[in-house]
Amino acid sequence: MSLVVVGSVAFDSVETPQETRENVLGGSAVYFSYAASFFTGVRLAGVVGEDWPPEHTHLLRGRNIDLAGLQTVPGGKTFRWRGRYLADMNSRETKELHLNVMENFNPVLPDHYRRCPFLFLANGSTDIQLKVLDQCPGATLAVADTMDHWIASQRDLIDEMLRRIDGLVLNDTEAKLLTGEQNLVTAGKRTLEFGPRFVVIKKGEHGAMFFSKHECYVLPAFPTAHVVDPTGAGDSFAGGMMGYLAQQREFDPEHLKLALAYGILTASFTVEGFGLDGLIAISRDDIERRMTEYRKMLSF
Ligand code: AMP
Repeated sequence: MSLVVVGSVAFDSVETPQETRENVLGGSAVYFSYAASFFTGVRLAGVVGEDWPPEHTHLLRGRNIDLAGLQTVPGGKTFRWRGRYLADMNSRETKELHLNVMENFNPVLPDHYRRCPFLFLANGSTDIQLKVLDQCPGATLAVADTMDHWIASQRDLIDEMLRRIDGLVLNDTEAKLLTGEQNLVTAGKRTLEFGPRFVVIKKGEHGAMFFSKHECYVLPAFPTAHVVDPTGAGDSFAGGMMGYLAQQREFDPEHLKLALAYGILTASFTVEGFGLDGLIAISRDDIERRMTEYRKMLSF
C-alpha cells in the first residue's frame, strides 16, 4: 500500500564535534521516504532547483520511491540547511536556512498521489501542509510533523491543521511550545484536545511517548553508543512508523504500538551514519534483527 509524503528536499551541511560535511542529500521528505521504503512504496512530493544532481534521483528511485510529485524549478536553487550539533549530540542549532525554491512551492499532487489512503505531512510550512490536505480529502490516515518555527509564526494555520489530521508527531520542546505545558504527559493530553486522535512526542535518545483518548505510554530508544549524526532521526522515525502502518493497512492501537517501535528502530540506524549513510547500509532484515533484540530488552 503506497504512502504519500510532502516535505523538504534539501542539501544539508552538518557539523558534528567529529566531522563536517557540506551539501549532503537531506530534507524531511527524503529521510522519511528512505526510512518508509523498507516497508512500502512511497510517493514523494517536494521541490528542487536546477542544481539537483541525477544521482540523487537514481538513489531514491532505486528504493521504489515515486518522484512524479517532485517539481524542478528551472534556474532555481534547492533548499539548504546548515546545522551544528553540540558535544552531547542531542542539542543542535540551525546556523543557516535558505528556503530558495521552497519559498514559492505550490504542491500540485499527481492524481495517483491524491488517491493514497496514507498521507504524511513532513516538516515544512503549515500553509503548504494545508494545501496538500485539500488535495487528499479521501486520506484514511493523515499524520503531520511540525516544528517550533511554524508553531510560533503560523499558529492559526497550525490550529486549523490540528483539527483536520488524524495524528501529530512532534518533539518534546515543540509539544511544550504548542501547549504552554512543561509536563510532557499534560502536554500530550492537551494536544489531543486540539483535534488529532493520536499524538506522538519524540524525546530523542529517550524514545517516544504515545497519547490517544484511551492510552498513554512510552517506548525507549534503542540504545546505541555509536551516534555519528542525528540529522533526520525524527523524519526516519516517522517514516518507519508510517511505512509499517501503510504496509499493514491498519492503524488500530496494537498496530500503532508496533509502528512506534519500528519508527524507533529505523531512526536508530539513521543516527549511526552520516546523512543517509546509516540507512543506505541496511536492509529490512537488519531492522527485524534489531526488533528481536528490542523485544528481548523490553521483556521482564
Ligand atoms: P530532523 O533531524 O529529523 O529534525 O530533520 C532534519 C532535516 O530537516 C534536515 O535534513 C533539514 O534539511 C530539514 N529541515 C531543517 N529545517 C527545516 C525547515 N524549516 N523546514 C523543512 N525542513 C527542514
